Amino acid sequence: MDYKALAQKLFPTIDKAPDFWEEKYPQRNLKEGARVTRFAPSPTGFLHFGNLFTCLVSYKTAKSTDGVFYVRVEDTDQKRKVDGAIEVMLKGLSVYGIVPDEGVVGENEEIGDYAPYYQSERKEIYQTFAKSLVEQGLAYPCFMTPEELDEIRAQQESESIKGIWGKWAKHRDLSFDEICKKLESGEAWTLRLKSPGDIEKKCYFDDMIKGKIEMPENVQDVVILKSDGIPTYHFAHAIDDHLMRTTHVVRGDEWISSAPIHLQLFRVLGFKPPKYAHVAPIMKEENGGKRKLSKRKDPEAAVTYYAEEGFPSESVNEYMLTLANSNFEDWRRMNQTESVEKFPFNLKKMSVSGALFDMVKLTDVSKNVICKMNARKVFELSYEWAKEYCPDLAALYEKDTERATAILNIDRENKKPRKDIAKWSDIPDYISYMYDETFVPCYELTGNATPALAVKVLEKYKDTVNLDDDKDTWFGRIKDMCESVGCTPNVKEYKQNPDAFDGHVGDVSTIIRVALTGRTNTPDLYSITALLGKEAVAVRLNNALTHFKEEI
Ligand code: GLU
Repeated sequence: MDYKALAQKLFPTIDKAPDFWEEKYPQRNLKEGARVTRFAPSPTGFLHFGNLFTCLVSYKTAKSTDGVFYVRVEDTDQKRKVDGAIEVMLKGLSVYGIVPDEGVVGENEEIGDYAPYYQSERKEIYQTFAKSLVEQGLAYPCFMTPEELDEIRAQQESESIKGIWGKWAKHRDLSFDEICKKLESGEAWTLRLKSPGDIEKKCYFDDMIKGKIEMPENVQDVVILKSDGIPTYHFAHAIDDHLMRTTHVVRGDEWISSAPIHLQLFRVLGFKPPKYAHVAPIMKEENGGKRKLSKRKDPEAAVTYYAEEGFPSESVNEYMLTLANSNFEDWRRMNQTESVEKFPFNLKKMSVSGALFDMVKLTDVSKNVICKMNARKVFELSYEWAKEYCPDLAALYEKDTERATAILNIDRENKKPRKDIAKWSDIPDYISYMYDETFVPCYELTGNATPALAVKVLEKYKDTVNLDDDKDTWFGRIKDMCESVGCTPNVKEYKQNPDAFDGHVGDVSTIIRVALTGRTNTPDLYSITALLGKEAVAVRLNNALTHFKEEI
């Protein structure tokens, strides 16, 4: 067979040889050990939390070695293409601090020496390598129709090795004349790899996450170019990752079963294979079992969910690192104020079987992140969020932004800040009693506080409270009131002799707290009182008094 003539017949417009591209895209000049990784999304517009996670792992792999992280858009399947998808994805990534060094950096905007980074613009490159494979007798045109392929699929139902190989590879050995005849009669063809695989042999590789892997060698004559001349994922990624000089392919572990095909393609193409790191999917617990986090069932599978709920990106980032590296939490404990950028990320510390998504944990992580923020930052980030997702909160803030910041500063910016807020959408409820517009009175008491005691306490307190007091004076007054309402300022004393009192200073405070906020548990009552202001304090104390009077 004259393979050269065949190649020319199949690819008459391709006048370049692989060397042309090898020279055009030379080895990168990076320091020893620097890793080149990429994120290679299909432009569907939906960013799954699992994709973001894999992307973060890829990004960290490059960044922790002073390497390069680039974005390549895998848009060979034009049917799946969604307009504006790239912008949405890149924005999704940048929120989490993932900004590519190279590649697609905006809708139709690329930077870097290895362009184009859209697969749809690389047809000539793929075809050059395809032509070269045909020239070497390593690939061949296959004219089987979809019906024939369906039939084979049906026949292979019980076979352990499926696909086009062995006796099913009907067009593997067509003669040059037979091929010419089919081409002349206009039969559609795909280009298949002439797999050199041996069914008896195994292929081995060392996955950076999963460890040593052994699988049967690929024997399938996989399609490398579809009938429209567009490459399959298998072929395109091999060429791209080679020519873009990717050192580490970090991708979802759904690709692991295709790794033997990929390794074979690299070998046949004469490329050094990259290192693979297959990331296990994020799992979710359900009915005692585990399943993949699902786009259909779980709102938190969409990356947009976190922005909508108002989880700060810092929290999500930090949470992803707890999922990614088992030692992250220990590191965080030892380095409480350090930026996550400093964390020595390690692929070897990734979970092999899939980390479990846990909302309670995310909430916890986020509370810790937010409690360390100063009030100005909390205000600014939550205001940004509110403008987009909660106009009512934005409107409250806008009445007096300084007061809003002061409210958010209660029990913050100290050694042991409170951890009430996990996400910005917690704030409307958290501060509702600080605004008359949103305050909902609730007169439920706890402990020894009864309506009768409440009447006594409020009668006294409304005439005692003085908003000019400092905190000690303010609390001193509350303590001083205790005796006159039958309580003791000393909780210990109460415990020793409960029958001698109607309650203690804690009960007195509860009554005041309930009257002012409608809650039994709030941050510092002194600060709340000061920020509510004279008028609101007077009105609320009087309303509560009226209520309790009616209740007894
Ligand atoms: N476009 C492929 C996907 O979205 C990329 C896989 C890879 O990272 O190689 O699944």
